[in-house]
Amino acid sequence: AKKAGGNVFAYYSPEMNEAAVERLMTKSKLKRAFERDELLVHYQPKYNLATGEVIGAEALVRWELPERGIILPSDFIPIAEETNLIVEIGEWVLDRVCEDFRYWQRSVPSPGRVSVNLSLKQLRQANFINRISAIMRGYGVSPTSLELEITETTLMENPARTIKLLDELYALGLHLAIDDFGTGYSSLSALQQFPISTLKIDKSFVRDIAVNPDDATIVGTIVHMGRSLKMDVVAEGVETEEQLAFLQTLDCNYVQGLLFGDPMSSDNYLELLLAQADG
Ligand code: C2E
Ligand code: CA
Ligand code: CA
Ligand code: CA
Repeated sequence: AKKAGGNVFAYYSPEMNEAAVERLMTKSKLKRAFERDELLVHYQPKYNLATGEVIGAEALVRWELPERGIILPSDFIPIAEETNLIVEIGEWVLDRVCEDFRYWQRSVPSPGRVSVNLSLKQLRQANFINRISAIMRGYGVSPTSLELEITETTLMENPARTIKLLDELYALGLHLAIDDFGTGYSSLSALQQFPISTLKIDKSFVRDIAVNPDDATIVGTIVHMGRSLKMDVVAEGVETEEQLAFLQTLDCNYVQGLLFGDPMSSDNYLELLLAQADG
């Protein structure tokens, strides 16, 4: 792709470096892709650590380029976040999730709780609560079926304002999760102000739990802290049996990760739920 774009760089001002141009091009391509309906939502199942049962999933956006295959969000979400496009994409993701949820509900009694990632710009959007309420109502999805994942860093950006908003979301019945927990250096007392039901331990701590005693201690402490505060704790990024075995020695509620497979299409998630219902 770099090669094909090589000649195009000549038309931009020489001061612009290649990376900046690449970002600019990606930004306009992304906007077009969004308008052309080239984004899609995959689901990564979350499992009850004690029983192995699927208890829900995390919705993860993807960009499917006809010639290039699937582009992962790390390559376009940061760019979308520089503009208001992230707000549109985020709202679209929630819309897809509610539509998929309604579809699953026709075949299984409980599709589990589905979590959706929220970015700061969405949280700061005027009318945010009315907009997401309207989407859920439109598809007949109960707010209690959804969880919003907000990173620790986003939470700590103007906490007073965020607490007020999260209290309203919580009152609607939505669950709230702190994402990438452990990466933001927030204090326990600061976190207790938020109506949080779930702590998601960042995968950077999970990666070495089976081999690095310090990481094992950190994860153990986070699990203990979260459980003492009556929160559910999710370990993300579980890739190996060894990591799973270590987590089983802790009082961690849920796990998600590549050990259980790649994030999957809506249809495949339904198949998983149906297989589970069959025993
Ligand atoms: P995240 O919220 O921390 O999501 C978890 C990421 O870890 C996902 O990457 C997932 O595919 C990946 N992952 C899952 N299991 C494993 C594992 O066992 N090992 C490793 N190394 N990685 C694993 P993905 O899908 O590339 O998403 C990256 C980030 O993009 C997400 O991180 C989230 O911050 C953001 N993102 C994804 N979808 C959305 C969205 O709809 N809205 C917003 N605002 N952000 C999104
Ligand atoms: Ca997440
Ligand atoms: Ca995360
Ligand atoms: Ca992350």
